[in-house]
Amino acid sequence: MRPIIAVDIGGTHVRAALYSEATDTPMSRAEIATHSQDADLFSRLCDLIEQVRVERALESIGVAAPGPLDPRSGTILRAPNIQEWIEFPLGSRLTERFGVSTYVDNDANLAALAEWRLGAGRGHSDVLYLTVGTGVGGGLILNGQLIHGSHGLAAEFGHMLIDPAGPQCSCGKHGHLESYASGTAIAAHVRRLLEEGATSSLQDMQEITSSAVAEAAQEGDELSRRALERAGHYLGIAISNCCMSFDPSVVILGGGVLGSGEILLQSIRRSVVAHVLHPRYLEGLEITRGTLGDDAGLLGALLLARAGGHDM
Ligand SMILES: [Zn+2]
Repeated sequence: MRPIIAVDIGGTHVRAALYSEATDTPMSRAEIATHSQDADLFSRLCDLIEQVRVERALESIGVAAPGPLDPRSGTILRAPNIQEWIEFPLGSRLTERFGVSTYVDNDANLAALAEWRLGAGRGHSDVLYLTVGTGVGGGLILNGQLIHGSHGLAAEFGHMLIDPAGPQCSCGKHGHLESYASGTAIAAHVRRLLEEGATSSLQDMQEITSSAVAEAAQEGDELSRRALERAGHYLGIAISNCCMSFDPSVVILGGGVLGSGEILLQSIRRSVVAHVLHPRYLEGLEITRGTLGDDAGLLGALLLARAGGHDM
């Protein structure tokens, strides 16, 4: 088998790596910024793939892309952070350009697939995956199958409705999980409280980010700790809704916001315990961090391409 290119298209960076048949360690890898004035994203993506493949003939290409998208056709419907890609046929454009099969799926679905096969979900058949970063993404494995639903749009847990009268979400609607618990939402919540006169070690900071909030919380800042606990409360509500809908045996949490400290993870666990219908859901339930870090999407794209696409 010839080598495979795996691509992960994130909100800030696009990564590509070349893998041989035998290992999950890339033969070469590189990344570019998602946004640039130099050229359009598709042509910069093609240049990146050329750079990484170093003139080798390819077997196929696997792509983890921001959703919502159609995994059957490889068409991006509307990527929230990539304005130029509306109804964009990414899969067929790459196939045309490189002359090999291209497989595309939602980045959170593929991160879930990778954590299930190679990371924190190994040995489980029912896996709930949530990634908390700039936004909130989700993936679901039930009975040993990655779930796509009838339109390929299942497991968009970041847009699970928490309160229709809640804050506006990145998608334009109101009160979705992401509008309470993403890194963006955590930072915005702290900014709002500071504007209202609350005190915090962050009050003189020019640009408040969720990682600054997590750091301040670790160092004992009360406002930051409460902001993380609030996000954990809402994530726990969403996870308990998922427990009652799907009854997973492991909940895997990925994304940069989970990377720092225990406060958020502990408040998520408390909130799940408080909100599930019956304690039986919690028997043996693991709520844990992913183990693949930033590579989860890339490895999921590799697994997808190696399998020759999903069996849908
Ligand atoms: Zn939304």
